[in-house]
Amino acid sequence: MDMNCQIKDCSQDPGAESVGMTGLMLCPEHARSVEAGEHWMREPDTGTVLLGDQVPPLVVAISGSAVSGDPGGMVLRLTTAATHGASHIEVLLSAQELVMLDGVLERYVPAGTEI
Ligand SMILES: [Zn+2]
Repeated sequence: MDMNCQIKDCSQDPGAESVGMTGLMLCPEHARSVEAGEHWMREPDTGTVLLGDQVPPLVVAISGSAVSGDPGGMVLRLTTAATHGASHIEVLLSAQELVMLDGVLERYVPAGTEI
């Protein structure tokens, strides 16, 4: 049975207990990080647990503007919170990609979520 800490690239032995409600088996150092509120997530494909800087930046603001042009569509702006300050990402979505994005959102937005 694999008894390493579940954090990616960590080969330390986990402590005897999982961390609170997370169900994760972590080494003492990583358990402290999780308890201190560092972001963590399970990778969708592998189930490997990412922690802290391994986690993709968290989006903290979203806006969009319709644009005309070739291709027209929408400029989507994402502001992310990073360790070293906010970062802005701007992408152009054509009508076809907007439909794809709509489908992705429909699949992943938890039912009953309201802003
Ligand atoms: Zn660890």
